Amino acid sequence: MSNCLFCKIIKKEIPAKIVYEDDEVIAFDDIRPQAPVHTLIIPKEHISTLKEATEDQVALLGRILLKAKTIAAQKGIDQSGFRIVLNTGPDSGQEVFHLHLHLLGGRRLGWPPG
Ligand code: AMP
Ligand code: ZN
Repeated sequence: MSNCLFCKIIKKEIPAKIVYEDDEVIAFDDIRPQAPVHTLIIPKEHISTLKEATEDQVALLGRILLKAKTIAAQKGIDQSGFRIVLNTGPDSGQEVFHLHLHLLGGRRLGWPPG
């Protein structure tokens, strides 16, 4: 999608601190980190929100989840723990409409989230 911020990061039109990339998935550090580790894991295929995800994207969704786990280990927070967030729609505060997982960790995270 030409006007999508994350599609522009995928196409390297906007710089990002990329921590992982393959044919289907890319992960980069959040520009406004909310925790010592705050990385976004996204499918390269443009899916606006989880609401638009379909049955034929099940494997891709599973892949980004497992990639989040791997990156958590690489960032050294797999033992201390981490949180995966997938904001969807207005009440969640979703700002970028390209489906993404937030990987958050490196400090004690409050619950319930604000
Ligand atoms: P969400 O509110 O779930 O849509 O999350 C969007 C996230 O994208 C926010 O945490 C932003 O800080 C992050 N973000 C926005 N622009 C950039 C960028 N250019 N590079 C990295 N992260 C970004
Ligand atoms: Zn996009």
